[in-house]
Amino acid sequence: MTTYTEFYRRSIDEPDDFWAEQASLIDWEKPFERVRDYGSPPFTRWFVGGLTNLCHNAIDRHLANRADQTALIWVSTETGQEETYSFGDLHAEVQTMAAIILSLGVKRGDRVLIYMPMIPQAVFAMLACARIGAVHSVVFGGFASSSLASRIEDARPTLIISADAGCRAGKVIPYKPLLDEALELVSTRPAKVLIVDRGLAPTPMRAHRDESYISLRQEFLGATVACEWLESSSPSYTLYTSGTTGNPKAVQRDTGGYSVALAASMKHIFCGSPGETFFTTSDIGWVVGHSYIVYGPLIAGMATLLYEGLPTRPDPGIWWRLVEKYKVTTMFSSPTAIRVMKQHENESLFEADLSSLRSLYLAGEPLDVPTGKWINGALRKPIIDNYWQTESGWPILALANGVESADSKFGSPGLPMYGFSVRLIDDQTGEEITVANRKGILIIDGPLPPGCIQTIANDDERFVKTYWSKVRGRYVYSTFDWGVRDEDGYYFILGRADDVINVAGHRLGTREIEETISGHPNVAEVAVVGVADPLKGQVAVAFITVKDRSAVAASEGASTQKHEILKLVELRLGAIARPARVLFVPALPKTRSGKLLRRAIQAIYEGREPGNITTIEDPSVLGAIAESVIPT
Ligand code: AMP
Repeated sequence: MTTYTEFYRRSIDEPDDFWAEQASLIDWEKPFERVRDYGSPPFTRWFVGGLTNLCHNAIDRHLANRADQTALIWVSTETGQEETYSFGDLHAEVQTMAAIILSLGVKRGDRVLIYMPMIPQAVFAMLACARIGAVHSVVFGGFASSSLASRIEDARPTLIISADAGCRAGKVIPYKPLLDEALELVSTRPAKVLIVDRGLAPTPMRAHRDESYISLRQEFLGATVACEWLESSSPSYTLYTSGTTGNPKAVQRDTGGYSVALAASMKHIFCGSPGETFFTTSDIGWVVGHSYIVYGPLIAGMATLLYEGLPTRPDPGIWWRLVEKYKVTTMFSSPTAIRVMKQHENESLFEADLSSLRSLYLAGEPLDVPTGKWINGALRKPIIDNYWQTESGWPILALANGVESADSKFGSPGLPMYGFSVRLIDDQTGEEITVANRKGILIIDGPLPPGCIQTIANDDERFVKTYWSKVRGRYVYSTFDWGVRDEDGYYFILGRADDVINVAGHRLGTREIEETISGHPNVAEVAVVGVADPLKGQVAVAFITVKDRSAVAASEGASTQKHEILKLVELRLGAIARPARVLFVPALPKTRSGKLLRRAIQAIYEGREPGNITTIEDPSVLGAIAESVIPT
């Protein structure tokens, strides 16, 4: 049996042979001519010249052996619906959706923006785009109209697919009015909008633009639409993510490399086999949803469970009952969801039969040791913390138990995954840190393995400038995360080194929130920082100086302005970006050159020493900040 050390070594030292072997896990219409092309670093093309299709690999190739096996299970505890689709059913639904999309004028290479709740039609839409070679861009349903508008503006989609409404905690959240508002804000509008009417909210349709999925489905029922064979490096989708500027970045992914990366990860990391059931509790609007709700499990011939609802409704035992009912073998969730569950530990949480479940994978944010130990004790199953980013598309750090089983260490997402040449560098000198237990920035030597970000859509320059630097003539990719490595080679992630914060596993750029808050007429300056939170890992807190202090002098005035500011964020960015607290302060700490000292603010809020503040212009400002954070 191969050891993981040897498996990993081959992936780094003999990448062509290694990845050519992995590439046999998927179907190729035409074999590739070269495993990779790194002739123009840091851009990488994988499986050059090969023709394939993501939808074919997710559905069609399974039809011969498992057309009747379950492919998609949908459970909505919001609407009380449960539906099951076999691979054969999914094949039919996706072809119908593909025929509808084509009838609305979408051609190969066009962009389709998907703004949808967690319903099967969202999955059909993604797979249908992949089938016809259209590039989908799923925008998280929780984003408000301005965020949606900026993404529409950037993506310039030919078609938008949406629904009348989503549902959260029993409350209907209309999507269509938000979409209509967003479409008012953009300069170029798509000719067509396809609406899935779930019958949850009134949905006025705009003549000549809005089309009903229900009527078109009737028309195209039974349609056959063949897969478009795409060159391996043709883009499959873009997905927006926050970065160090207010402008979201459209992470672009290829087709062949992504299919291979997912197929390999399902085998080596998630240990999934055809006929089993995978349950990922994320949202299709996030990268985990793309890779491990939709494409990964289906590529592996597994059933995937799509869940609309909260982990705690109707009661906190719901997910575990679903594990029993659908014989889930592999589950993937987030530390925040587990912390929410832990709050209910005195209720009968784990009464279901969990014998089918092999492991629980957790990602998206640091898994604190107490939470890891608690869920491990409760489930008595391996807990596999894994670290990755929207950009990577699949785990950078994890355990490859499908190659050789290794012990989890609480607090660590494990070892570098095959293909990722992970290193730590000193943030000041750029020198590699070779000793154990010394903090540095986590970087990856180029080229990145298959499945990772190809570029930022339409902005190669921003891609290179944002992520890549040259160290001794070689391109290295920065993750912007701090990390340390122990004596056994296990990594520990210590948080972001930039102004991205992680709230309940969701990545937010503080700059975007700051820009929004600056739009309030009485705001002079604002600093948004992420501070530790026992439930969500981190929450955003806004420190604000105002133009007219008399407006916030009395508590009534202050609370009106806080309310206005929070409303502004909710309207522009969505409730997800709402700071947990808004604090009015007399001044913000800055360096003499005028740079905001966010880390000092964060430290004070968290009750730590503000660290090296020798560059601060006026140290007395810190005292006022400390006073403001005392809960009132
Ligand atoms: P996203 O692109 O939204 O998936 O966010 C990626 C960021 O989430 C990473 O850069 C890390 O800061 C954080 N992250 C993801 N997974 C983990 C993990 N297992 N442990 C610690 N931080 C994580």
